[in-house]
Amino acid sequence: MIELRRECLWEHVTPQKASPVQLEGTIKVDVCVIGAGITGLSAALNLLENGKSVAILEAHKVGHGGSGRNVGLVNAGTWIRPDDVEATLGNKVGARLNKILGDAPAQVFSTINRLGIDCQARNDGTLHMAHNASGVADLQARHDQWRRRGANVELLTGSECAEYCGTDKISAALLDRRAGTINPMGYTVGLAEAVLRLGGRLFQNTTVTQLERQGSAWLVKTANGTVVSDKVVISTGAYTEGDWSELQKNYFRGYYYQVASKPLGGAAESILKYGQGSWDTRLVLSSIRRDADGRLLLGSMGRTDNKPAWFIKSWADRIKSHYFPKLGKIEWEMHWTGCIDFTPDHLMRLFEPEPGIVAVTGYNGRGNTTGTVVGKALADYLIGDQPDSLPIPFSRMKPIYSAGLRSAFYEGGFSLYHAGQCLRVIL
Ligand SMILES: Cc1cc2nc3c(=O)[nH]c(=O)nc-3n(C[C@H](O)[C@H](O)[C@H](O)COP(=O)(O)OP(=O)(O)OC[C@H]3O[C@@H](n4cnc5c(N)ncnc54)[C@H](O)[C@@H]3O)c2cc1C
Repeated sequence: MIELRRECLWEHVTPQKASPVQLEGTIKVDVCVIGAGITGLSAALNLLENGKSVAILEAHKVGHGGSGRNVGLVNAGTWIRPDDVEATLGNKVGARLNKILGDAPAQVFSTINRLGIDCQARNDGTLHMAHNASGVADLQARHDQWRRRGANVELLTGSECAEYCGTDKISAALLDRRAGTINPMGYTVGLAEAVLRLGGRLFQNTTVTQLERQGSAWLVKTANGTVVSDKVVISTGAYTEGDWSELQKNYFRGYYYQVASKPLGGAAESILKYGQGSWDTRLVLSSIRRDADGRLLLGSMGRTDNKPAWFIKSWADRIKSHYFPKLGKIEWEMHWTGCIDFTPDHLMRLFEPEPGIVAVTGYNGRGNTTGTVVGKALADYLIGDQPDSLPIPFSRMKPIYSAGLRSAFYEGGFSLYHAGQCLRVIL
């Protein structure tokens, strides 16, 4: 029997070739990017491809944030339904955001192909799986709304649904053929390698502590050095450290955990046999996917870094037995937790707090595609000064009321829900 380790699978399977360099002394570049996740690296890549000099400052190492530890779903659209996006943002802005994020998986997969990134990429779609009648109604509405917008989605039912999902516990599943899966750390590291090839200067273990104006330039300060730049991209997301920016007040933290089994070989081949990543319509959702080595990955809202191994295994066994009873006993190898930046309306925010500084937050758990397109859009904006380059207009920074309380409230609710699942009170 193997021990359940606290380790992120994606980090385990992804070698980082470049040895980390820390910033020392003062350097001058056109643009300083803070945070080496998908957003910052996508911005850096596009700036470099347009002839700008770029420094990227990362407090830990590439992919330390959500980018290196997420489920790896390359989703189309936002978390909320496309009609609701338009109702919240207005028809014009909402329709534009739906179009950009609906097309975003294509941008991720073409970036991967263009740069030759090795990250288990599969453009085989995603499956949103209905676990009960209200889930079916939700998926029917999502299907109809996306189809009206010409998206390549299909609602699977009956034996076809069971065949795709590998379980008869799902009543219907929305197959979104635009989407797919990746190893997110592989993608992030691949972007970083491309940035280095183009002459970007990447400094790791280098935490930004202060941002200060000096004439027309910005001084981005760290413990041992300073970057002097004309423009700054703040792409620190849910992992923002320090009080040098107001970004942290504009989202509330939520957590998401994953548990990975040992490679299962042929025993798990019928689970999601056509390679889709999936999640169900539960109030506290479960995500299910397999990796290229045949591991089963289960995930849900909340954290495991504060829970005992027996609880985590018990939850994973429960979900596995519910959906895939034929699989029998399996061994769980790793678990890890990540942090998500939520906003009350589940929509992201773009900011320009000062001339020359741009920032983003609120991906609400959809950053592989959103980070890729927003990073590029921010780069285009800084190069051309055209607000039309942005997927949505800038907002004014506005602290979220009781952010800490919200996070604690949700975390308590998630833990109770999972305990209910383990005890079979919630089926
Ligand atoms: C467990 C989990 C599952 C998820 N699943 C999915 C999914 O399946 N699909 C999907 O699309 N999205 C998913 N998401 C969301 C997605 O991972 C994020 O939205 C996305 O990775 C954010 O990318 P980013 O580059 O904006 O920020 P991050 O990847 O979080 O990077 C921010 C970086 O900034 C650095 N930083 C912070 N403060 C400083 C400082 N002061 N100085 C220097 N550097 C600093 C951090 O160390 C970090 O590396 C998930 C998130 C989590 C946590």
